[in-house]
Amino acid sequence: MDKKDIKSMFFEEIFEDMSKKFIESYRVCQVYDWITKGTASFDDMTNLPKALREELKLSYRFLGVRIKEKKVSLDSTVKYLFSLYDEEVIEAVIMKYKHGYSMCISTQAGCKMGCAFCSTGKGGFSRNLFPSEMISQIETAQRDLGIKISNVVFMGMGEPLDNYSNVIKFLKLITSPDHLNIGARHISLSTCGIVDKIYSLAREKLQITLSVSLHAPNDGIRSKIMKINNKWGVNELIASCKHYTQQTNRRISFEYVMIKDVNDSLDSANELGKLLQGMLCHVNLIPLNNSLSCEWQTSSPNDIYRFKNVLEKYKINATVRRTLGKDINGACGQLRYNRTQIGG
Ligand code: SAH
Ligand code: SF4
Repeated sequence: MDKKDIKSMFFEEIFEDMSKKFIESYRVCQVYDWITKGTASFDDMTNLPKALREELKLSYRFLGVRIKEKKVSLDSTVKYLFSLYDEEVIEAVIMKYKHGYSMCISTQAGCKMGCAFCSTGKGGFSRNLFPSEMISQIETAQRDLGIKISNVVFMGMGEPLDNYSNVIKFLKLITSPDHLNIGARHISLSTCGIVDKIYSLAREKLQITLSVSLHAPNDGIRSKIMKINNKWGVNELIASCKHYTQQTNRRISFEYVMIKDVNDSLDSANELGKLLQGMLCHVNLIPLNNSLSCEWQTSSPNDIYRFKNVLEKYKINATVRRTLGKDINGACGQLRYNRTQIGG
């Protein structure tokens, strides 16, 4: 029998499972208490009898991440290369803001979506991460840096909605008060636009922020840079976003990577303005970061501000994103799958 991944289980699941083994309730509570404190071995659960620890080891295992490499940038952004139990490698980034520490985590080893401007997409896809492996990214960084992570963004490797059930379970675990207790409003899930899953997410009624990587105002441009657009076009995507805001009353954040002579013209700005006018949303304009074998350049600062001004004429709130950790390739789209060293 396969051992169960205990850090990916809800308290109720552990309770039910252990009750069948005639383990007393107060012992189950002790085990869960250790798990939520970040303990990753039964041997460390010192208030349990040795015999019980040995018994538990036969049925359960701890999946987590190990630090393989760590880089600290000049702006004190920290980037980790983590290895998983099967030697797959993922990356995560911690950024310090005025309001606390924000961590950008990975949800998959690699990514299937193949967006043309993104390094992760270039490396191909290996596998989905389990909830335990996502939790462990946060716990490992907290322990290593002696900090508490207050915000989580799903902007590392992978497409979170392509690993839907594990990501939802992870969200439910880390937001629960007896676990990491991270406020749902401090979590942003970023997607390239897996439309059927946006409808599913709306039904979950979580208070998280949804970020949608739109990057183009029409199908012509979007299909050129994002393969997913051939499956769900811009209109279908926007319809799912409108549904999401109606169901949750939460503002959507649209990500828009500024690529010189591809999506940064005045026409594109006007088209985007018309598309999003009247929606409960915010637009983040992101200067394109250098990525693997991508021939495009970022738009000039002038063109980015010109674009922003046009959006404001349509009463759309837009900000230009500051890029942190550029010197260590920790910025968006620079995370890449590489077994030997931190990308770059
Ligand atoms: N797969 C999800 C989340 C991970 S990517 C998604 O696509 O939304 C996180 C963000 O980085 C996305 O908005 C993505 O479009 C952006 N990104 C990817 N490559 C980039 C690059 N070279 N420069 C700037 N942003 C990039
Ligand atoms: Fe995958 Fe997001 Fe990169 Fe696209 S931008 S390839 S969806 S990680």
